[in-house]
Amino acid sequence: MLKNKILFCLFIVINHILLAQTKTDSSLSLSPKERSIVAISAHTAQGNMPKLQMALHDGLNAGLTINEIKEMLVQLYAYAGFPRSLNALNNLMGVLEERKKKDINDAAGKEPSPYPAGKTMLQTGTGNQTKLTGRKIGGGVYEFAPAIDQFLKEHLFGAIFGRDNLDWKTREIITIAALAAMEGTEPQLRSHFGVGMYNGLTKNQLAELVTIIETDVSAKRGIVARQVLQAVINQKPYTMATLPDEVIFPLGQKIDNGNFIGTAWLKQLALSDSSNQTAIGNVTFEPGARTNWHLHPGGQILLATGGLGYYQEKGSPKRLLRKGDVVKCPPNIPHWHGASHDQPFIQIAITNNQNGATVWMQPVTDAEYNNN
Ligand code: MN
Repeated sequence: MLKNKILFCLFIVINHILLAQTKTDSSLSLSPKERSIVAISAHTAQGNMPKLQMALHDGLNAGLTINEIKEMLVQLYAYAGFPRSLNALNNLMGVLEERKKKDINDAAGKEPSPYPAGKTMLQTGTGNQTKLTGRKIGGGVYEFAPAIDQFLKEHLFGAIFGRDNLDWKTREIITIAALAAMEGTEPQLRSHFGVGMYNGLTKNQLAELVTIIETDVSAKRGIVARQVLQAVINQKPYTMATLPDEVIFPLGQKIDNGNFIGTAWLKQLALSDSSNQTAIGNVTFEPGARTNWHLHPGGQILLATGGLGYYQEKGSPKRLLRKGDVVKCPPNIPHWHGASHDQPFIQIAITNNQNGATVWMQPVTDAEYNNN
């Protein structure tokens, strides 16, 4: 009897450990919805309608809304052409009818908000393209054929990416899956792997996306996509070694005070004193490094100057920080900041010490760090 009890307790403990591990691992991988987005996009791009229909059922069963799927298939016209996009939309209509007959009620989902007022589509699109890629796009082929530059900005980055019922990370999953499934689009795939990482997709998630292409879409396309992904991962600017390109201030001293996880560096730029109680420091985080949870009684302003980072306030989703982003942390709100999974992050922290010094709290666990 006692032996059984002990065995049962052991079973519970092991189960908890396994569950905790699965939770940590799964937060670093694509969600079931995202996996079905990969399949839907790739089959649409290839024009494989029987497989698309199965992927549409899987996506709806995983909780994708009708409007989300419509939005994906509309976006795909820019990558795979109107015929593929229209064929896929027709198949979606058929799948939805079939499900209705079986009394399956799929959620309609959100409509996009109106476009920003007072701006031309070209202005909106140019702004979105610069924010999405982190740089101004021009020259070369865009100068040779200005019409394609205009249409890309107006249609793709303005009219399509300007619709907010899919976020940009999701839109990059759609784009990458379509480009990986098509033949001869390796240069665009290469650049979108980079854009995807810049918009919060991790190397692990991209590798998983490629595995779906390899096993569910085309083994040949999967192998090519894996080679392209490896080349992007090996390339700048995703390592500490390539940071000097973006560095304004020196690295400074390695932080060794127990308030950080991983390796981070601090260059104190200005100390607070009686005439000005603001402290300014330049902090460089290696990939995966982050502060513990903490709060500032007088608040803090963060200026992101390089790499890719995260910022999270207690109870809110994690925010992606890119060069040029500004965060105003309110006084006394527990939060953490640090580098993203695969890339370093540089920030200038401006801390108001008027109401007291930073209050340090518990470390940010891997589960918290990996979570969205
Ligand atoms: Mn802070």
